[in-house]
Amino acid sequence: MRVVGSLILALTLAVGSGGAASALPTPERDALAGPLVGRTIVIDPGHQLGNHNFPRKIARLVPAGGFRKACNTTGTATRGGYPEATMVWQVSRMLATRLRGLGADVTLTRHSNRQDRWGPCVDVRGRAGNRAGADLKVSVHGDGSTAARARGFHVIAPTDRRPWTHDIYRPSQRLARETRAALRGVGLPVANYTAGGDGVDFRSDLGTLNLANIPSVMVELGNMRNSSDARRMTSRKGRATYARALARAVVNHLR
Ligand code: ZN
Repeated sequence: MRVVGSLILALTLAVGSGGAASALPTPERDALAGPLVGRTIVIDPGHQLGNHNFPRKIARLVPAGGFRKACNTTGTATRGGYPEATMVWQVSRMLATRLRGLGADVTLTRHSNRQDRWGPCVDVRGRAGNRAGADLKVSVHGDGSTAARARGFHVIAPTDRRPWTHDIYRPSQRLARETRAALRGVGLPVANYTAGGDGVDFRSDLGTLNLANIPSVMVELGNMRNSSDARRMTSRKGRATYARALARAVVNHLR
């Protein structure tokens, strides 16, 4: 007991001697440390680069929220051949660095961008962060529309699909609107080729959203087949702009 007692005394002294910051109430202290301290964010960087080398594995059907769907797809690419998998990997890594800098714990659904790897499947991506009770998930993609002059970003949120998304569709739709606002805020154009035309779509057919128990959105950062979107995606500065906006959306949502 005496050992425990002196341990507590030592800890009390150590905490008490922390200087000016320790004199602040907890919320102010956390704000100094970073707005995302204590938060866990899942980033899902679209498709693995090597998916096209494993067609049978990628075609396997997996649960997607009351129906089954192919494990994954190969993703798209710019006309110049810059793959979606690489673009979303690079943006996701920049985003992870930013969020960690703001104090968050960040988990990615894949840990490499390689031709000799595949997956994970959409069911694994969909459930990522559920067990850990993460605060939210952002799935990062680039679109591949061949429609003439199709360009711009759009954000996809789940519809109310009972029992799958009933628990998360409202905060997810809010997160989608916040993500749209943040992307607009750095000067990015809303997609001119999607259904509503306002930059937010609602879908019930995506395992990545249907299997989530945490607020989740999928963002199509732009149309990779469009030359002005592709120019942004293939430049480091352009990718940093996407990452900055996505980090802003996360902070705004969790504030
Ligand atoms: Zn994609």
